[in-house]
Amino acid sequence: MSEPELANITDLDDLERYINECTACPLAETRTKVVFGVGSPAADLMFIGEAPGFHEDQSGEPFVGAAGRLLDELLDTVLGLSRSDIYIANVLKCRPPGNRDPLPEEIEHCLPFLRKQDELIAPKIVCTLGKHATSVVLRKNISISRIHGKLVRLGGRRLFPTYHPAAGLYNGSTKQLLIEDFHKLKHLLTVDDEPEPPVEESQEQMDLFGR
Ligand code: SF4
Repeated sequence: MSEPELANITDLDDLERYINECTACPLAETRTKVVFGVGSPAADLMFIGEAPGFHEDQSGEPFVGAAGRLLDELLDTVLGLSRSDIYIANVLKCRPPGNRDPLPEEIEHCLPFLRKQDELIAPKIVCTLGKHATSVVLRKNISISRIHGKLVRLGGRRLFPTYHPAAGLYNGSTKQLLIEDFHKLKHLLTVDDEPEPPVEESQEQMDLFGR
């Protein structure tokens, strides 16, 4: 789809119909299902992961394996929310074979769709899950251990990076950091804007996704 066509889409359902037919990169040939995203179109909080894995490719829904169950647990026990209250999407909508890392050209083809989801949902806070999703949204290579749990403000937008839930499955200390980050996230959601200055702020980038 061309950028002008994408610009004319004003509804998530229309966007999903477009993406379900997408063949812009070779992942269209190996996917089982496009994993568009799930949740409330009016969500205040949008989570962004990297790419679908095996179970997501089979079901067409993001975060449905063990990592997804941990995400659901954190949503429920810390934030008191369910999937229907928030929105979850990935940078890539189709699974890279063998769960390899996304290629730069795949990200470039697919990123306009995530930008459009962000534009249509207009969440108050974007929470990236893991180093890869955070690096894509910030358009630079970051260290998740350094940046997690810190508010990043760009052009009036609020980004809150944390670990990928998969990292917390087999590492108790990372799971504890995830829990602590979700408590910070809960606080950020209770205030319309954070009165204190952000811990991280990019001087080079004007908005999320490099806009
Ligand atoms: S990964 Fe994105 S750009 Fe590539 S075919 Fe799937 S939807 Fe299209």
